[in-house]
Amino acid sequence: MNAPNSFRAQPDDRGHFGPYGGRYVSETLMPLILDLEREYRAAKEDAGFAAQFDDLLEHYVGRPSPLYHAERLTDTLRDSAPDGPHGEKRGAQVWFKRDELNHTGAHKINNCIGQILLAIRMGKTRIIAETGAGQHGVATATVCARFGLPCVIYMGAKDVERQQPNVFRMKLLGAEVRAVESGARTLKDAMNEALRDWVANVHDTFYIIGTAAGPHPYPELVRDFQSVIGREARAQLMARTGRLPDLLVAAIGGGSNAIGLFHPFLDDADVKMLGVEAAGEGLDAKHAASLAGGFPGVLHGNKTYLLQDDDGQIAEAHSISAGLDYPGIGPEHAWLKDSGRVDYTAITDREALDAFQLLCRTEGIIPALEPSHAIAAVARVAKDMPQDAIILANLCGRGDKDIFTVAEALGVQI
Ligand SMILES: *Cc1c(COP(=O)(O)O)cnc(C)c1O
Repeated sequence: MNAPNSFRAQPDDRGHFGPYGGRYVSETLMPLILDLEREYRAAKEDAGFAAQFDDLLEHYVGRPSPLYHAERLTDTLRDSAPDGPHGEKRGAQVWFKRDELNHTGAHKINNCIGQILLAIRMGKTRIIAETGAGQHGVATATVCARFGLPCVIYMGAKDVERQQPNVFRMKLLGAEVRAVESGARTLKDAMNEALRDWVANVHDTFYIIGTAAGPHPYPELVRDFQSVIGREARAQLMARTGRLPDLLVAAIGGGSNAIGLFHPFLDDADVKMLGVEAAGEGLDAKHAASLAGGFPGVLHGNKTYLLQDDDGQIAEAHSISAGLDYPGIGPEHAWLKDSGRVDYTAITDREALDAFQLLCRTEGIIPALEPSHAIAAVARVAKDMPQDAIILANLCGRGDKDIFTVAEALGVQI
């Protein structure tokens, strides 16, 4: 594929990122999708919308999140870095964008604030969402409570059983959680059910999608709302060091925190980027790496890389980190992979667990298991980079939610 003049100029007006994206929805949904797109374009031009979004991000979410130079992690990685070919010391500097410090403990709230403001602008009075592990459900229930809108969260029945604390959080926040009994009773079934609800209730209902996927314009608008991460990080790093990073690193479930960090840098040719999928128990076993182990197909209203069998049946994703457990990936990442602008790698459960513990001990930060995948990738590549190189990784969630999973994986009784 030829490199375009601007990677930031995508998607085209029908929502295509190269051959990916688009809007594969039923005819009933088409007018609504077009309506959403029109409203979104108008909101983008409206200084009042931006001011309200920025105000909530500052005073409700707690932005800007800090940019943090992880010096002890950097030193620790340098201790095991081999010298370069001319005997020079190696080991890049590691910096973190601290989005785990946001209200609700992750980046998802940035997008939920943007979408609920759009819903209100469109006069919608009811919110629906789908959730796998429950984190997007909690973020959606949070903004619905904040704006006093009723909220229905679709969640696979199996996930409801596995994720009781998040189910209870959503209920505390006033949301109705509907357990979906069809199919494998997990995330993909919840997405289908949410789309069905939307078709039936388009007159008053807004569907808040939780990652940079779904029919156009969702991948674009989720990206734009999450791009606050990259815009802030860019300004913060320039102010602190006077330069751009050499490498950006972020974990990928559907790809929203990663595209939020990457997008503002996509046209800076010297900034390399690495997206990190979940390799689960290994790429030849159960995993959630759609780019490394999937192939293109259609799910959730867009064309992208998917985990599927030879008949096109969507496969169950697996990762120790519930938030990376998505069988697809946003279409922009599919295109960035094919075009070569972004590199993608995969990290196993075991490697993520090691990185989780490494960050706890070196920096006094308990990360979520999702960004632990990014930290593991940082540890892998930092060793081979010069000491004046800068790696900027997104710490997209905090680990309080994961301590029981980690304890079990380590064989510790708590
Ligand atoms: C949901 C989640 C993810 C995965 O979603 P993306 O859209 O890929 O960002 C990653 N990290 C955390 C902390 C999450 O909650």
